[in-house]
Amino acid sequence: MIYLDHAATTPVRREVLEAMWPYLTGDFGNPSSHHEVGRAAATAVADARAEIAEWFGCRPAEVIFTSGGTEADNLALKGIALATPRGRHVITSAVEHPAVAESADYLVRHHGFERTIVPVDAHGLVDPAVFARELRDDTTLASVMLANNEVGAVQPIAELARLARDHTIPFHTDAVQAAGWLEIADLGVDAMTVSGHKLGAPKGIGALFVRSGIPLEPVVHGGGQERGRRSGTENVAGIVGLAAAVRLAAADRLERVARVSSARDAFIDRVLATVPGAVLTGPREPRLPASASFCFPGTSGESVLLQLEERGITCSSGSACAAGSDEPSAVLVAMGIPSEVAQTAVRFTLGDDVTADELESVAQSVVAAVAAVTSLRR
Ligand code: PLP
Repeated sequence: MIYLDHAATTPVRREVLEAMWPYLTGDFGNPSSHHEVGRAAATAVADARAEIAEWFGCRPAEVIFTSGGTEADNLALKGIALATPRGRHVITSAVEHPAVAESADYLVRHHGFERTIVPVDAHGLVDPAVFARELRDDTTLASVMLANNEVGAVQPIAELARLARDHTIPFHTDAVQAAGWLEIADLGVDAMTVSGHKLGAPKGIGALFVRSGIPLEPVVHGGGQERGRRSGTENVAGIVGLAAAVRLAAADRLERVARVSSARDAFIDRVLATVPGAVLTGPREPRLPASASFCFPGTSGESVLLQLEERGITCSSGSACAAGSDEPSAVLVAMGIPSEVAQTAVRFTLGDDVTADELESVAQSVVAAVAAVTSLRR
């Protein structure tokens, strides 16, 4: 089987599991306990926090561990918006993950906020000039993702963050898909979400960076862990695993980006040249190195996926959360792609170790899969 759904999740790396093992066994303590077993766990969390802070380009006290990307997005959106007295207006883009979009809707439904959804162009990109026009005196928070999970579009986040800063508006970015691939330390944002399982750590661990001085109302209340910003006994092994995954991702990032993007480019070229009518969704650049997403007009994305699965290739039609839904992808529709075309979407997201030969055989299977679906529909 060739697994090309790394945007949905990645396997846990062996080194990550090995780093976690002691904290699931011998050093199993609760970091809040004042005895030796607890202290060992607290030290491991502190060390991991320092490493992750360096990756974020922030101070350790500005890192909040969460149960994943969804919780971190919820905390950023609700926590910052509800704690900031300046107004009741939030800005998001039209292509956000539901963890951001639904949190913004919650603020509208339950707290009287107004939400402005900034449109994207045909490639899924936000135009900074359009974004700038929406910034208001009563804007409490703006949130635009760093890279899109369905089409790999990389947004001009440094520029958007600078525009928000000029208006002293807190700016959050969801970096779940970008983390591990792109440099995230110098974006100038006030808050940023990452998730472990997209970069070789387990599911159920994530982190939110919140710049000190940005007010934050907790969403999860309890024992006051994470400096009162996120209660609940820390997922010590997960936190250690996240730090290990970050270390591994940082070590060979540039080499990996160069290798995977060149394999991806060859794959995209091959599919566009050999599959009749195939369209790339999202921009050629700036694009996540591992992302290749298409529409195959005249087919059904779900049928193409089944055909590919029969040929040993695992990929998806879009985001894992929307799998099996009959609705066309909101991201593709926001890009102006007609619903009937959006329903033919297939997303391939590559892993670190993908080879050009493997992708050549995948491209051949795509030709066969699309031909099979097209002939069945005639
Ligand atoms: N944000 C983006 C862009 C994602 O792609 C995902 C997961 O697919 C999430 C947030 C949610 O992260 P998690 O699965 O850790 O809750």
